[in-house]
Amino acid sequence: MAQLIDGKAVSAAVKAEVAEEAAKLKDEKGLKVGLAVVIVGNDPASRVYVNNKKKACEAVGFQSFEYALDEATTQEQLLDLVNVLNRDDRVNGILVQLPLPKHIDEKAIINAISPEKDVDAFHPINVGKIMIGEYSFLPCTPAGVMRLIESTGTDITGKQCVVIGRSNIVGKPQAMLLLQKNGTVTICHSKTKNLKEICLGADILVVAVGRANFVTGDMIKEGAVVIDVGMNRLDNGKLCGDVEFESAEKKASYITPVPGGVGPMTIAMLMKNTLTAAKQQAGIE
Ligand code: NAP
Repeated sequence: MAQLIDGKAVSAAVKAEVAEEAAKLKDEKGLKVGLAVVIVGNDPASRVYVNNKKKACEAVGFQSFEYALDEATTQEQLLDLVNVLNRDDRVNGILVQLPLPKHIDEKAIINAISPEKDVDAFHPINVGKIMIGEYSFLPCTPAGVMRLIESTGTDITGKQCVVIGRSNIVGKPQAMLLLQKNGTVTICHSKTKNLKEICLGADILVVAVGRANFVTGDMIKEGAVVIDVGMNRLDNGKLCGDVEFESAEKKASYITPVPGGVGPMTIAMLMKNTLTAAKQQAGIE
């Protein structure tokens, strides 16, 4: 039976580290770390994420600047705000909550955020830096997954790592990070053939598909580390991962629950990125 990887505990440890460093920055350098969060429209899920980010900022001693814009905000108005935040010295990190309303080009907004303040690490410059291993920020969810794997004491070197999903925000950067830690990495997607066979070879399996209970126990190698990135809302309102937990936990050595696994890590890593941004902007790191 698998051991649970406690994302709440690991994320609390990351946030405690960040809070300690933030307090030191304030005491020793008079620097207060600031994160600006921009939300456009009234998507309830986005609202929840933004509120959680605000709470996390308070918990680690950051200033948070929230900009809740009307659904009818134009792309030009949003670009203007991003440019103002790029120049605002109180703001070390800028996060524009996605998805944006359809009339706004997300790429144009992401590209307008100063790479030094791009704490989501979505800007092409930061994405490119991940490819060459010279990054300042890592995208929050894959970075959180790496911390969770690390928390199990698993050495990634030489391990067969399988990532299901190739999105720009999870699957692709996840694969790069595992590769940088010397994993032998296979990326699977909707056109992959023999998915079950490939999964059965995985020592480390990261699942980011967005389909409830997609990976079942019979697809998991005995003793594998299984990380479930999926967050699927069922008809009964419950949150459910991409991995069928009951059958998977019988095969895995370590497994993340949903909720309480990868989810809490994403915000913790966002706080870490914002702290890094503040230090770099102050010439400390
Ligand atoms: P996405 O952009 O929709 O990507 C899903 C990926 O799954 C795609 O690459 C797709 O392949 C692949 N896929 C779909 N059906 C498949 C199949 N039958 N076999 C193999 N691969 C298949 O989703 P995402 O943004 O990466 O997110 C994935 C999940 O993680 C979602 O549930 C999301 O809510 C969750 N998530 C959680 C967090 C967190 O903080 N915990 C953060 C981000 C995302 P193609 O490329 O071929 O279409």
